[in-house]
Amino acid sequence: MNHIVMSEELLISMIDVYARSNNLEKAEHYARLVKKNKTLAWTAFLAGCKKVVDYSTVRRIRKEFPFLEKDASAMVLMSNVAAVAGEYGEKDKMREMMDERNLKKIPGVSYVVLQNGQVHRYTVEDEKVPKKAIDMIDSIYFKIAENYNYVADVSCVLRKFPDREVAITHLHRHSEKLALGMALTEPGNHTIDITENLRMCMDCHNFIEKTSNLYPSRKIIIEDTARSHIFMNGSCSCGGDY
Ligand SMILES: [Zn+2]
Ligand SMILES: [Zn+2]
Repeated sequence: MNHIVMSEELLISMIDVYARSNNLEKAEHYARLVKKNKTLAWTAFLAGCKKVVDYSTVRRIRKEFPFLEKDASAMVLMSNVAAVAGEYGEKDKMREMMDERNLKKIPGVSYVVLQNGQVHRYTVEDEKVPKKAIDMIDSIYFKIAENYNYVADVSCVLRKFPDREVAITHLHRHSEKLALGMALTEPGNHTIDITENLRMCMDCHNFIEKTSNLYPSRKIIIEDTARSHIFMNGSCSCGGDY
């Protein structure tokens, strides 16, 4: 292993694997090797702390890496561990801190299975999304606005942005759109299968519905926390009632 330089993506999946199998020591070892995506690495690690309810480790890591206090998912995880460990005072303090800093509570994460069987995981505004996926979303935006009266619904953007254009760009970096953009860069007519950890916003629903017009007979399935949405030929199986 000494001569192999692992990509950060691989390191993060190692952290995930060890954290999920309750091996916090190994997970921490890999988390310490991550230099760029530290928040992502330590969040994966904290998920392991939550699983085994190890609040003393959470306390130690939080102290060592104060940047985690700026990340909503890390804060949610840390406060959850505090609550489960019976440290209600600490949990309340963390939740208050999140409110003061206006941290959005749960960031969206989407998973898409690509043709080679690989699962890609994207968060909102994920920087590791290949450029071709972003180009795909931007070109779809142009086409559906032009041909299917798509208008970006910026009311779905919870954060404040300086202007509408910036808000639209943010909206078009929601994790399910990134996953869809990536899937559509692959040739073929296979079903696209995306899973996400939140309920899809109205804009993503509308965007994907309109996009399905551009790929006749192709199925786009999005499993969100509320239900499965099967998009085909411009409409969704939920009938828009979701
Ligand atoms: Zn959305
Ligand atoms: Zn639907």
